[in-house]
Amino acid sequence: MRYIEPHAHMVSRTMDDYKALAMAGCRAICEPAFWAGFDRSSVDGFYDYFRQLTEYEPKRAARFQIAHYSWICINPKEAEDPEFAREVIQIIPEFLKKENVLGVGEIGLNKNSKNEVAIFEEQVQLALDHNQLILIHTPHLEDKYKGTQLIIDMLRQHSEIDPNRVLIDHVEEHTVKQVVEAGFWAGITLYPESKCTPARAVDMLDLYGSTDRLWMNSACDWGVSDPLSLPKAVLELRKRGFDEQTIDRFVYQNPLKFLRQSGMEILPEG
Ligand SMILES: [Zn+2]
Repeated sequence: MRYIEPHAHMVSRTMDDYKALAMAGCRAICEPAFWAGFDRSSVDGFYDYFRQLTEYEPKRAARFQIAHYSWICINPKEAEDPEFAREVIQIIPEFLKKENVLGVGEIGLNKNSKNEVAIFEEQVQLALDHNQLILIHTPHLEDKYKGTQLIIDMLRQHSEIDPNRVLIDHVEEHTVKQVVEAGFWAGITLYPESKCTPARAVDMLDLYGSTDRLWMNSACDWGVSDPLSLPKAVLELRKRGFDEQTIDRFVYQNPLKFLRQSGMEILPEG
């Protein structure tokens, strides 16, 4: 089996995890910039983090023949101080030029606050100005439906946005249709606690009735999460009768198709 892990926070993971991912068939990892479990106190803190994502993680991944790409942004959880967030946004273009950066992400909403909305809008504009793909985080639990709709409504106000170049992540049963029917790509995050189990993810595919414009990811951040949840979901897909061709399309070709819109080949074959 071959697959792409399209959303993994490897800065919080060990080399053992890289090794396990490689052994499970992972060929490429995409790492969005996120909240690292604490608020950073300076722009330099972000600068170093962006260097970690673009310079150091690719080297760790390469030791196991895994390609590593990243997304750059300031995450919604640290967007509550707009002035500070704007200073961080100013250093982002330098990183968008790098050959292993896929686009702007994961931007989005956490608590659907006014400041988060303002910084989200500014980073959407940043992506458009630099012709970048966009990766979007949606809020957890009770704020999810409202936040997802808010995000879709904001994106629709930009006529120049091609929804095919935007992926809205962490969809659940009650938001997957909303996202895909609006023309965007959707990500299902497999997470042992707060998000979606492999069994629920496969239920969602049955419910939605297609694997088009969809991918799965493990997130695997510093929380209770599982870097191997994607191959575990593949076992669940096989158990439910999905054929190998459909599985390959879902876990390898779909992410490749979306990510290649960045202009990068990502992986040589496929
Ligand atoms: Zn994430």
